[in-house]
Amino acid sequence: MNIIFLSASFIFGSLIGSFLNVVILRLPREQKITGRSMCPRCGHGLSAWDMLPFFSYLLLGGRCRYCRGKISPRYFAIELITALLFAVGWQVLMPVSAAAWLLLFKFWVAAAVLVAVFVIDWEHFIILDSVLITGSVFALFINLLRDILQHSGFAWHGYFVSGLVAAAAGSLPFFLLWLISHGEWIGFGDVKLGLLLGLLLGWPQIYAGYFIAFILGGFISLGLVIFAHKGLKTRLPFGTFLSVGTIIALLFGPRLLAWYLAFLGF
Ligand SMILES: [Zn+2]
Repeated sequence: MNIIFLSASFIFGSLIGSFLNVVILRLPREQKITGRSMCPRCGHGLSAWDMLPFFSYLLLGGRCRYCRGKISPRYFAIELITALLFAVGWQVLMPVSAAAWLLLFKFWVAAAVLVAVFVIDWEHFIILDSVLITGSVFALFINLLRDILQHSGFAWHGYFVSGLVAAAAGSLPFFLLWLISHGEWIGFGDVKLGLLLGLLLGWPQIYAGYFIAFILGGFISLGLVIFAHKGLKTRLPFGTFLSVGTIIALLFGPRLLAWYLAFLGF
């Protein structure tokens, strides 16, 4: 039975990944996300058969059907990564109740939004409001639904309030860094990203996500300084690390926290 749900999660993730490709390509260039997809090289309109996740790319050998121009493997990679994240989410969270399904759904929303944040920040060094707002609305809605399901109503100690507290706690440090440095160390996009990550992770898991992000960022920066001979001043896409940290914290946060407390001797 599990294999059916696992495969369904993977296929669902690949379709979402295919949609994310459109979002990632068009939103930073201020193009509409509706409208027919076309080959960026020859401009020929693409049919549904040309856009099947994985299959079209593999069957056509990574080339456009019409002009035989090369298609960037990143489309394939984004579909595959999203599909894998959705499947891993299913495998780790394995929902058995309505409330647990909401948790999985929240992870899927987080995965989709953060894949978009990750790639766009990596490529353009910006974090788009439209992406952040979409993610935040979903997160607020899911937090509220979880409260209603698990506390049978609104509760001050519930997920909705926890999300808001974490949103404030998550964006405040970035806001201060942004304010002190006049936007030199950190972009205002990161401040707004902190709000979304808080809504997704809740209190106090928001700091588990940040902790993982800082460790990752630290190692990767160190690696760049040592191996790529980049100076410490090379700007790093901070949103990229935060996205990865949040995904890991959403999946393994409670386990990592337990492990860390045990490590400290609690
Ligand atoms: Zn073409």
